[in-house]
Amino acid sequence: MKKGSKAYSIIRFTCPHCHEGEFFVNRNPYHLSTAGDLLDKCPVCGRRYTPEPGFYYGGMYVSYALAVALCTTLYVAMVVLWPAAPIWADATVVIGGLVALAPWLYALSKIMWANLFMTYKGVGPTEAEQRKAAERAAGQPA
Ligand SMILES: [Zn+2]
Repeated sequence: MKKGSKAYSIIRFTCPHCHEGEFFVNRNPYHLSTAGDLLDKCPVCGRRYTPEPGFYYGGMYVSYALAVALCTTLYVAMVVLWPAAPIWADATVVIGGLVALAPWLYALSKIMWANLFMTYKGVGPTEAEQRKAAERAAGQPA
């Protein structure tokens, strides 16, 4: 997995901007008291993770898509591997899989949503940030 690709940030739960800093308060999504809690900004590059209030509500769309994909995969696997299974066995596997993976899907949906809108910029400041800093420095009296 190459640094700079969105998959790198998603799989490793790292900052979408620099791919080095942590994204979540706790990397383990099964630590339920902090599941899905984000840091305010990256501890490495310092860029903010929430561009606007309510930004991560959109992650629900990603979460829904992931849940549908998981349910479909589990159901098809049951039909292929155990064709004579009663419907309650299919339902148990699908619902059990969904409940077991829910914390991971929740975290995954947030980092995937963030990666849809944030791009890799490396650790250093962006050109806009450098320009703003230069303007600030030029505006100050010597
Ligand atoms: Zn970062």
